[in-house]
Amino acid sequence: MSKIKLGSHVGMAGKEMFLASVKEAESYGANVLMLYTGAPQNTRRKEIEDLNIEKGWEYSKKAGIEEIVVHAPYIINLGNTVKPETFELATEFLKKEIERTAAMRSKILVLHPGSHVNAGVEAGTAQVVKGLNLVLDENNDDVFIALETMAGKGSELGRTFEELKMIYEGVNKKDRLRVCFDTCHVNDAGYDIVRNYEGVLQEFDKIIGLDQIAVIHVNDSLNPCGAHKDRHANIGEGYIGFETLRKIVHDERFSGIPKILETPWLCEEGSDKKTIPPYKEEIAQLRE
Ligand code: FE
Ligand code: FE
Ligand code: ZN
Repeated sequence: MSKIKLGSHVGMAGKEMFLASVKEAESYGANVLMLYTGAPQNTRRKEIEDLNIEKGWEYSKKAGIEEIVVHAPYIINLGNTVKPETFELATEFLKKEIERTAAMRSKILVLHPGSHVNAGVEAGTAQVVKGLNLVLDENNDDVFIALETMAGKGSELGRTFEELKMIYEGVNKKDRLRVCFDTCHVNDAGYDIVRNYEGVLQEFDKIIGLDQIAVIHVNDSLNPCGAHKDRHANIGEGYIGFETLRKIVHDERFSGIPKILETPWLCEEGSDKKTIPPYKEEIAQLRE
């Protein structure tokens, strides 16, 4: 039996860049990792040559890390019909981000579908589709766009399986799309994976197909099912709980795909600064 593909989100900064990401993942006992190619809240990015990709992959062989996932910054919003500049920035950035993802030898770029900013789900979704077509029609990199299931905070698109399906339906190159299944977001969106795990997966299977899930984000949630909040909790410390998260990590149907923790860092006793990554312990607990 092959080892469960389990890791966390890691940083990529300093001189070592990708090499530092791999070392960080190794320190957690991870065999997969996810990173942002720069700060998640802005679109400033280093040149591909400065990411230290070669050295990182060399080291990753020793470290047993075989696969990486890239997450697009969450400020890129393909769903914006209100401000043309925002939409244009989003498509331009996404084009380059796909190229960076391919250069980093990742096959998966996780993308938040977008927000409709009060234009409504239909208009927002149509805009996302337009943006994805603009980008994908002209791109042939070996990279999937994994649309993330969202919590439904504000005017977020992709908070139901049907909304993700609507995006699939409009995109010309459907074979370039996949889904990133985030347990916290799915819970917050109103799917009861705790009491109805099989039912929720069956529903997903009927609407999109379980084979479309290319990454799982393994997070507990600070809020109950249906809260539409999106606040991640440490494993076993939220409303989802250890048992359900362990179940999804060990689910045979997902054995081939990376599972990534995005749980919050912890504070040192007596401090309110988050300085301690929880991933080593959480990965070990979930592997057991
Ligand atoms: Fe995300
Ligand atoms: Fe996520
Ligand atoms: Zn989240």
